[in-house]
Amino acid sequence: MNNLVLNSERLNNVLENKVISFQDVMEIYQQSLKDSTELFTTAQNLRKKYKKQTVTFSKKAFFNIVNLCKDTCSYCTYKAEPEEAKLSLMSKQQITELLQLAKKYKCVEALFVTGEQPEKKYPEAKKWLEENGFSSTSEYLIHASELALELGLFPHTNAGNLSYDEMKELKKTNVSMGVMLENISERLTEKGMPHYLAASKRPKKRLEVLENSGKLKIPMTTGILVGIGETIEEIIQSVFAIKQLHKKYGNIQEVILQNFQPKPDTIMKNSPSANEHFFKTVVALSRIIIPEMNIQIPPNLSPKSYQSFLSVGINDWGGISPLTPDFVNPEFVWPEISKVEENSKKAGFELKCRFPVYPEFFSFVSKELRDKISGIENEEGLVKEDYWR
Ligand code: SF4
Repeated sequence: MNNLVLNSERLNNVLENKVISFQDVMEIYQQSLKDSTELFTTAQNLRKKYKKQTVTFSKKAFFNIVNLCKDTCSYCTYKAEPEEAKLSLMSKQQITELLQLAKKYKCVEALFVTGEQPEKKYPEAKKWLEENGFSSTSEYLIHASELALELGLFPHTNAGNLSYDEMKELKKTNVSMGVMLENISERLTEKGMPHYLAASKRPKKRLEVLENSGKLKIPMTTGILVGIGETIEEIIQSVFAIKQLHKKYGNIQEVILQNFQPKPDTIMKNSPSANEHFFKTVVALSRIIIPEMNIQIPPNLSPKSYQSFLSVGINDWGGISPLTPDFVNPEFVWPEISKVEENSKKAGFELKCRFPVYPEFFSFVSKELRDKISGIENEEGLVKEDYWR
């Protein structure tokens, strides 16, 4: 039962679990430009209803496996060219050493990240694969994932547009996987737009990968990048597209809302970062579009104010690493976990450590992986305190 009654008929409908249309959300957005109080109140109410007073995170190490990439997104500083100092081509030895260190730091997740099909463009990537005994990046990722499991970490791979077969193989070792939708808009792939030189970011391609993850029953992390030249309509359509996928396959475990931050060495270096109030509005709108979803913002990208997003609908901080940088946003260090806990507490929320797969999706993972989780899981399906602290 919900006793909250608002002036907005549409928001009351949301609170009563009625179906909400794109047009409704647009109207709610227009209204929020005059006063966002009711929208934020609704988002907060739904968040409490579905996620209580808990905020989760995943204790992770970020494995920058290979940052050569066949595409170029105008906002990306992660991608390296072969001659650059930031080039990363991790050897098996380096992966093993970082896994061992991550274990020492009591990390739970091994986040494996690569550029898009580097071996398709760079001879250097081919050579690196050959030296390590593999013919493709995905083969290498399978090996790295096996290593992670052996050494006691749970792999979560985000390697762009993997094929159905590649994902099928990786599902054996990965408790979940990730690929950002970024945005559903074809317009952002036009000349002068951020995805013009990134064939892998064509919305159809991304949706196909997400569809495949659904067919394969892989708990999937996806999300949107906010502030890259898209319109509010395109943002809302993107969230609806994710909702639609989840309705069809039930495998979207979380939606990341990432606020764009300009990087000095990129084409978009002079574009402004996403406005904070607008970003909060996007968070709240996402919560009302998919009320039961796990919604995440990265705390390092809103370093001064991340805790205030707890009151507009988020329930997860994503992966936080005590030992590796955020290679996608290297200028934003991750806050210390104890600080995030303290700030969450001040805002009235309890921080808990989750697996890279949320408890609602445990039934999607194999028995072998499920058994590994069981060993260190508490009664809520989260990581036992004494394991990660
Ligand atoms: S965001 Fe991903 S696909 Fe785009 S350039 Fe960077 S690494 Fe490549």
